[in-house]
Amino acid sequence: MRVFCKKCRTFVPANNTPILYMIDTSAFQGKKAAYFTLGCKLNFSETSTFGKMLQDLGVSTAQKGEQADICLINTCSVTEVADKKCRQAIHRLVRENPGAFVVVTGCYAQLEADEVAKIEGVSLVLGSNEKANLVQFLSDAWTGAPTAKYYREKTKDIKSFAPSCSKGNRTRYFLKVQDGCDYFCTYCTIPYARGFSRNPTIASLVAQAQEAAAEGGKEIVLTGVNIGDFGKTTGEKFIDLVKALDGVEGIQRYRISSLEPDLISDELIEYCAKSRAFMPHFHIPLQSGSNTVLKLMHRHYDRELFAEKIHRIKELMPDAFIGVDVMVGCRGETPECFEETYTFLDSLDVTQLHVFPYSERPGTSALSIPYVVPEKEKKQRVKRLLELSDQKTHAFYERYIGQQAEVLFEKATRGRAMHGFTKNYIRVELPAKDANPDFDNQLISVKLGEMTRDKESLMCII
Ligand code: SF4
Repeated sequence: MRVFCKKCRTFVPANNTPILYMIDTSAFQGKKAAYFTLGCKLNFSETSTFGKMLQDLGVSTAQKGEQADICLINTCSVTEVADKKCRQAIHRLVRENPGAFVVVTGCYAQLEADEVAKIEGVSLVLGSNEKANLVQFLSDAWTGAPTAKYYREKTKDIKSFAPSCSKGNRTRYFLKVQDGCDYFCTYCTIPYARGFSRNPTIASLVAQAQEAAAEGGKEIVLTGVNIGDFGKTTGEKFIDLVKALDGVEGIQRYRISSLEPDLISDELIEYCAKSRAFMPHFHIPLQSGSNTVLKLMHRHYDRELFAEKIHRIKELMPDAFIGVDVMVGCRGETPECFEETYTFLDSLDVTQLHVFPYSERPGTSALSIPYVVPEKEKKQRVKRLLELSDQKTHAFYERYIGQQAEVLFEKATRGRAMHGFTKNYIRVELPAKDANPDFDNQLISVKLGEMTRDKESLMCII
């Protein structure tokens, strides 16, 4: 029998925990829930875990056209646009599900709890510390226990860790290994929204990976806010987590969703280069290639260190796919600073740029930097970097045309082309005529063909 553990906020075998929630599960039976998520992979993975927890209590997911009894909106606050999208999503779900119990959580809920609680139809707002107790809050609300409209701890008191290992829409699992951040970059609100860096133990993460493997999972993406900072709570090291996960039987592929450059140690690069299952695939936030701007952002490295990390990765893993986050048009980024970023990125052997226009966030210290980039100029800079990104990605893909590669295929709608990824994250397309449902979640050796018309993938020949 599985029960809900108060300590790790998940369902566990009954004999595994002495700390159990007393939940009146009958209040959940037969209810339907609608979910809406905005933002990062971490949010999506958390929503999916909430969905699984409710499903285990008898709550099914409302299908298209069905009215939901519960609406859960997991919000993001990375930009002003994200805030607006959150409000729109809340209004829409309230409108489409009259009478539903509407819960809003996530970064926007933490930062603007008062504002969110005032939106008509919102039943409950849960901040970052409280979302881990979603089930308890719902149970209290439905059994008539008194509940407030919103619950939110101050940033310094956000201590809880909501574990999450969920299967995405397709094939991969997303394992949350860390939450929060201690860096306080001047443009970023994440530390205020998610609290300080914290993590569960290596042993508990290995157990979650083993469970994913037992369910047939072959690929796991490690998620978190500042993953390389793993260990703040437990005194363990990220490299030891990597080594322990590498030993989990059945998991064939790991990817690390993002790593701050100053936290990519030589030991980690060297380990990944010879590891069994960590893929030659890195995602590293640069944000700016100008040391002046990096200083204004309070980033923990300079461009020289960033270049050094890229060179080391490429030296040991020449086939590695390297994605780079760049923030464009932040305060203090003069035209000269932007040109420095452009030429720096142009010179680096990286594969793809994830370009984000800077968005002013209330409460951040970046607002005290006087130089503001005009919106029109910001757009032009974004466009130039996106063009550079396309050139780099296409050149990378072209290097592999004609080669043999192992692809992990993802579930596809019947009659449609199938997609999958190589070890080094090249997206491949198997035309609908060759698609086979048996390929779903299978590692298959294919020959890589020409670029597809939309230039998003390489065709594959089986
Ligand atoms: S490292 Fe900087 S940008 Fe990333 S979450 Fe932490 S404060 Fe925000």
